[in-house]
Amino acid sequence: MSRLDLHLHTTHSDGSLSPGEVLALANKAGVTALSITDHDITTAIPEALAAGLSFGIEVIPGIEISSFLDQSEIHILGYFLDWQDPSFNAQLLALRQSRHRRNPLIIEKLQALGIDITYEEVRALAGTDAVGRPHIARALMDKKVVTSAKEAFDRYLAHGKLAYAPRELPTPGEAIRWIKAAKGLAVLAHPTWVQPTEGTLTDLVRQLKSDGLDGVEVHYSSHSARQTRDYLSLAKEVNLLVTGGSDFHGVTKPDIEVGIGKGSLHVPHGLLSKLKDAAARL
Ligand SMILES: [Zn+2]
Ligand SMILES: [Zn+2]
Repeated sequence: MSRLDLHLHTTHSDGSLSPGEVLALANKAGVTALSITDHDITTAIPEALAAGLSFGIEVIPGIEISSFLDQSEIHILGYFLDWQDPSFNAQLLALRQSRHRRNPLIIEKLQALGIDITYEEVRALAGTDAVGRPHIARALMDKKVVTSAKEAFDRYLAHGKLAYAPRELPTPGEAIRWIKAAKGLAVLAHPTWVQPTEGTLTDLVRQLKSDGLDGVEVHYSSHSARQTRDYLSLAKEVNLLVTGGSDFHGVTKPDIEVGIGKGSLHVPHGLLSKLKDAAARL
């Protein structure tokens, strides 16, 4: 069966496998088209495109940008964008710099809790410029402070936990505008994690559409069948495109596999042509 997976992370952000390794897994899973959507960075794309050619897998350039609205983090995916666009990459660089200001604050809090950890160690372990909390989680796992990334987040790293530090982030409207300026389609990622403080999810999606949003990630590893139906009707109601992907990360999300998520993910292949048509009109 031919599969589609439009949400994948590599070692270029917080995934544990290289672009080539992710493509090899995708090939094994029967994925025929995919998008690498690393956080705030596009450096995985050349290797992914090359691996795509050798496996015969279509690779769509992608991105996932973290944004912040009313106390909650909202992720915006970008597809088919001009990933080499200089001003887009300058905006991503500024976002990564905000991570380098935040991460040492988290490390200081962990040190104050008596945990032996340095930011230099975390950066060396990450091996990328897009260093994030999952890398800190992995360092805590290596040091046997915690046994899983989930425990690291639940005890130390999540919002409101012992070593949490805030990060300067764009609004979702800004992230959408950056993607559109780079000629990409902007998509609201994993709506299950979006918790609007005011109004409903539909209100928020309508507001984001007025900022330029093109689609909603309806098919997602942790969406229940009911959520998938609800988000599908939301996309229809607001007249937005439908996308889907696993959000594969490797060891930091060990229950999620390329192409099939937790086993039941199925991203309909037919949605790809609608995305392409929309991208061609940009
Ligand atoms: Zn995300
Ligand atoms: Zn993701």
